[in-house]
Amino acid sequence: MKLRSLLLTTALGLTSCISVGISRPSVVTDTLYVNTNNSQRYITRMNEAEGIKKIRHLLETSEFEEAWTYLPEKKEWHEVGINEKKPSTENSEDYCSSDGVFSLVFEPGYVRKLVQENESAIIYHFHPFFFRNLDNQMEHAQGKEIQRYVPRLLFTIMPSGEDIHTMALHELGYFNDVKADVSWKVVSKYGIVEYGLTREAMKEYSFRAGKNLEDAISQYLYLSTKLFIGMVLPSIENPTSQEITDAFFERLRGTNFTFDFTPFKQ
Ligand SMILES: [Zn+2]
Repeated sequence: MKLRSLLLTTALGLTSCISVGISRPSVVTDTLYVNTNNSQRYITRMNEAEGIKKIRHLLETSEFEEAWTYLPEKKEWHEVGINEKKPSTENSEDYCSSDGVFSLVFEPGYVRKLVQENESAIIYHFHPFFFRNLDNQMEHAQGKEIQRYVPRLLFTIMPSGEDIHTMALHELGYFNDVKADVSWKVVSKYGIVEYGLTREAMKEYSFRAGKNLEDAISQYLYLSTKLFIGMVLPSIENPTSQEITDAFFERLRGTNFTFDFTPFKQ
């Protein structure tokens, strides 16, 4: 009981705008938008494939991230991202993680209501395409030079440490009495990654809430990326971005987190 209240406190602490989330009225829109207006929530009826197509278009031009809860039975997209922030242009190329520069907050009260009232839900957000020259740079990289660009590729595609932490806090605390089938996905220019916790991690992390959990996730991602770039990448000759991501996800399997990457066909 004590543990659960700790988890809930942490989850609420992370998403501190709960009152904004619950009180904002919904507006039905004809398509998906990046909505940075915190006083209104957009709801769109659209099937999943059409929604993903629209998100792929938005991420090419958007200066902000956006998040939705998609309800497969109703074919509805409920926009759930608030307090979107964009990077300052100054020094922005120095960042490796897209979530280090872009951020938003999920509306916890509203997301919880959706997963309580529906059989299944997919929580989507996207990473804006930030490293504009990345494909070109990778294509022209000579030998070891490619190592410079791989973190940018992986951090564009991968959920950030904060994304995984938010998912884990919801799964372990906020959704802990919810029966709906919930999944978490991030869309980037290169494809969709579904991310979750394994059963073993559920058991392990329920005893390590809060800061320990956040540290464990960040360290895990950092070390996995570092090891991959230092030890696996040099063994692949002239790798394409597809070969790099395939090898990376192969390396991540069988751990506390599940990652399932579906690349987009260009
Ligand atoms: Zn993210």
